[in-house]
Amino acid sequence: MAEAGFDLCGIARARHLGEQATRLSEWLDKGYDSGLSYMHRNVDKRLDPALLYEGAESVIVCAANYKNESWDQQSSINPRISSYAITQDYHTSLKDGLNIVLARLKEEYPDLRGRCFTDSAPVLEKSWAIETGLGWRGKNSLIVTPRYGSFIFLGEIIIDAEADIYDHPFTDDFCGTCTACMDACPNKAIVRPYVIDTSRCISRLTTERLPEGETTATGTHGWIFGCDICQSVCPHNRRTPHTDNPVFKPFLKPADCGKEFWDNLDRIEFDNLCGTTPMARTGFENIKKRAANFFADTASQDED
Ligand code: SF4
Ligand code: SF4
Repeated sequence: MAEAGFDLCGIARARHLGEQATRLSEWLDKGYDSGLSYMHRNVDKRLDPALLYEGAESVIVCAANYKNESWDQQSSINPRISSYAITQDYHTSLKDGLNIVLARLKEEYPDLRGRCFTDSAPVLEKSWAIETGLGWRGKNSLIVTPRYGSFIFLGEIIIDAEADIYDHPFTDDFCGTCTACMDACPNKAIVRPYVIDTSRCISRLTTERLPEGETTATGTHGWIFGCDICQSVCPHNRRTPHTDNPVFKPFLKPADCGKEFWDNLDRIEFDNLCGTTPMARTGFENIKKRAANFFADTASQDED
């Protein structure tokens, strides 16, 4: 696992996640998906891996710790960027790792077939992370693992083979009476424990491309891409180790990137620095506009 870049791994028997149907449909009915139309598609496949991959017998979930030094070092005077967004795009790095794991399994069991997933298909990855014993669902809706907290990426492999032994689902909930993430969320996007209204979530608001003519998304509290607030206040993330995986080494230090840096950043430099990060998908113009808007807001507040 380590050579494929993963820190945790679990396996569960593939099954229809019927108990998640009500939770998912209530969330969609309330509009908490904020118009993400893909969430409404393939609900049946989301609940049943056998509809996603014919012959599915087992689901493997792999997790990679990506915690880097940026997680609690955000500046109030410079634009903030989520710590996951200043590293190589996890879609690429995780997929590579999952393919290594699958190739190894095929070496061992030549008849085995499987398919890898990294946000690329309707998989209820958090439910499968619980099912495979990796961690519990925190009140901020993220999976929290005892060893690495919630700064983890998840990837899945659905295979057509049964395992000799399966992991036990994670049944504890170590959030207890803590509500730190709910209290800290500036937009009150955690509408109740375990439920996020993504239309209020800064992470959602800042990772989409800006609509034509719009210069900023409102209510982003200094974040220009992603948001780490509810993770950085979580007590389970305080003592977890930083990753030593070079793939998740940060390309820049947002706390040190002031107005001069953002004003001078051109497309070539952006591509050099951020071309392989998740920010590349949002695009140079959008990131520049958000940074410019941050400094314009700051300047107008200073005048007031
Ligand atoms: S990511 Fe930010 S905005 Fe979204 S729920 Fe967490 S604290 Fe709130
Ligand atoms: S901050 Fe507290 S309530 Fe939120 S996920 Fe962490 S332990 Fe759970």
